Amino acid sequence: MTRACECGAPLGRRNETGRCRSCSSKRLSLRPEVQEARRIGLRKKYATDPAFKAAHAERMRNLVLSDAAKEKMREVGRKQYRELLSRPDMLERRQSETAKAKRVSSWMATTMPWLPADRIADYRTYRAARYSPAEARAMIEDAIRADAAAEIAARQQAMADKHARDLASRY
Ligand SMILES: [Zn+2]
Repeated sequence: MTRACECGAPLGRRNETGRCRSCSSKRLSLRPEVQEARRIGLRKKYATDPAFKAAHAERMRNLVLSDAAKEKMREVGRKQYRELLSRPDMLERRQSETAKAKRVSSWMATTMPWLPADRIADYRTYRAARYSPAEARAMIEDAIRADAAAEIAARQQAMADKHARDLASRY
């Protein structure tokens, strides 16, 4: 007869605790000395890790703030955002960013005609991961071929399915 944990999970022959891994770690984490160790660890992280501290502070703020206060803060944020976006210098900046994006994409289209617009992000990812331009191009072209093959296979499967349905409905 196979032994099982209290949660119903089967136990391996060499299991000595009588509990599955998930149940034993749950029980372990309930022990006071383990909880104390975790508190110490968190306190240390809080003192030495600024990102962790900021995230913690943000969580606490959200817990403490009432819904009304949160809504008021959001309204302030929205107002700032609206006013910021309508400022002439910000408008100009947005327009110049759009213009720049357009220049970049038309430049890409002439220098890398093999690269479809929807794969530009992939290309950048490969390059950022230090693949050479040739390697990045080869990977993109492989992906394009694989997608095309998958699409053809899906279409053929759909036709085969339809054919089978037609045959079945004939009898
Ligand atoms: Zn269990």
